[in-house]
Amino acid sequence: MVRKVIIVGGSAGGATAAARLRRLNEDVHIVLVERGEHVSYANCGLPYYIGGIIKERKKLFVQTVKGLSERYNLDIRILSEAVSINPNKKIVRIKNLRTGEWYEESYDKLLLSPGAKPVIPPIPGLEENERLFTLRNIPDTDRIKDFIDRHQPQKTAVIGGGFIGIEMAENLARQGIEVTIIETADQIMAPLDFEMAQILHRHLREKGIRLIFKKEVQAFKSKGKQIVLSDGTEIGTDMTFLSIGVRPENELAKTAGLSLGERGGIIVNEYLQTSDEHIYAIGDAIETVHPISGKKGTIPLAGPANRQGRIAADNIMGKKEKYYGTLGTSVVKVFDYTAAATGLNEKTLRGLEIPYEAVHLHPSSHAGYYPGAGPIALKLLFDKGSGKIYGAQAIGREGADKRIDVIATAIKGGLTVDDLTDLELCYAPPYSSAKDPVNLAGYVASNILAGDLEQIQWHEVDEIIAGGGLLIDVREAKERERGYIKGSVHIPLNELRNRLDELPKGETIYVACQSGQRSYLASRILKNHGFSVKNLDGGWKTYSYAYGLLP
Ligand SMILES: Cc1cc2nc3c(=O)[nH]c(=O)nc-3n(C[C@H](O)[C@H](O)[C@H](O)COP(=O)(O)OP(=O)(O)OC[C@H]3O[C@@H](n4cnc5c(N)ncnc54)[C@H](O)[C@@H]3O)c2cc1C
Repeated sequence: MVRKVIIVGGSAGGATAAARLRRLNEDVHIVLVERGEHVSYANCGLPYYIGGIIKERKKLFVQTVKGLSERYNLDIRILSEAVSINPNKKIVRIKNLRTGEWYEESYDKLLLSPGAKPVIPPIPGLEENERLFTLRNIPDTDRIKDFIDRHQPQKTAVIGGGFIGIEMAENLARQGIEVTIIETADQIMAPLDFEMAQILHRHLREKGIRLIFKKEVQAFKSKGKQIVLSDGTEIGTDMTFLSIGVRPENELAKTAGLSLGERGGIIVNEYLQTSDEHIYAIGDAIETVHPISGKKGTIPLAGPANRQGRIAADNIMGKKEKYYGTLGTSVVKVFDYTAAATGLNEKTLRGLEIPYEAVHLHPSSHAGYYPGAGPIALKLLFDKGSGKIYGAQAIGREGADKRIDVIATAIKGGLTVDDLTDLELCYAPPYSSAKDPVNLAGYVASNILAGDLEQIQWHEVDEIIAGGGLLIDVREAKERERGYIKGSVHIPLNELRNRLDELPKGETIYVACQSGQRSYLASRILKNHGFSVKNLDGGWKTYSYAYGLLP
């Protein structure tokens, strides 16, 4: 019988688990041990408080210690650090950070939700850097805000273009501070593929953000006022923000001898039990299995941490709930754009040598005749044989997140790309089109499955043209004036049927338009006249974004 549960970590996963435990059982003694001063605070809101969008600090506290204790009858110990576990005696050693005293607390079941901490590599000059910040919790936030208020920085460097780095870049820029993002990869936002990330790069530059790619920070000089990059160049900065990733907070788990994965995540089974059956673990600290690839990894996101909190509580109280795995469904605001993704991206599929097909679309967020419509760049990845959906990415001013949520749900439900054509999604002109972008992605993908559409990708075009291939641009002259693929031949779609005798039979012809839609029609015309034809997926839009050809 479970009489007493200790939970370590009182934020996303831990607080959820505590509340669920109480809802399941009135009698169990729940001790919530939290190192910081706050429980259940909104880490995801911290960049927006720093940027002034969330105006009041108190709004960051989803629950107070008093409120949470009273509502759920919890024994909350803030400013208390769990420092070691004796799994044989089922005891946690806790340090009271106010008094410096140590004590021991016994448990029937222990739940670890200690989160992850920012990666801080040993860069020369780091110790002396007086203007370097990371962001994880409320004290970090207070330090950043205080520094900005007192020193009024003019320019900042953000090292790392992941979620937190991008959110910080926007929120610093909002305050009139010049921002440079330094990224070792050739793109920001790793969940996106390069050509998709390029849309965001362009937008960030439009907003005045300077982007430096493929360079590492080698050293800090002058107490952090100078950053030395791997090519020897130096950047002056008033403040530096380090956000190159997080790693599982696993020190406590180590004291219990729990099994850890390659990246340091606590290994759990499908019931979220660690290598010790009385100890459960959830959230950023654990290693999860990707439901599509079957690969283990750490995916630090709040949604999974919350869901795991509920499942672990259920299992602690004797239910048998399985955790499905973490798909990595995520979203980020990048100034006026929303970028969302789910499942596996193309880079990962390639790395895992999983055969895949990709389609790129640029449908309207809602009916084009209703004010405010804008394009959504949507990419869908799937298996060409079975139609199994591997992943999707979407970027747009509105509606990107909901399309990715639908596709994430489809993946969870085991739907195929054919099923996407059949989804009945809500429609009225201000919200969508009668054929929703998700339906459209399904149509394009199922045309490929049916063998009605063959396509090439943006990165294959230049080589095809250089090798003497014929690429026909079927757009209107006005569109072509604004930019075109070098070496392409212009035959507007409406003239195509009358100019078939100009085209070579016996070799593959390639067709392109603005987004891939009209060229699909062109490809059907040509195919029905006996030509071998392939369509440029995503058209000029994907190509021009990918190569940064737009002004
Ligand atoms: C700035 C920022 C923005 C984010 N934005 C998003 C977002 O938009 N969307 C999203 O999905 N995710 C976001 N995340 C990630 C999300 O916050 C985490 O995935 C989630 O909070 C993980 O929950 P957790 O319970 O595992 O860990 P946490 O919520 O980090 O909680 C861990 C708690 O454990 C405490 N703790 C650790 N060790 C001990 C110990 N030994 N003893 C006592 N207490 C201990 C810590 O003080 C901490 O309060 C963001 C994170 C940050 C930092």
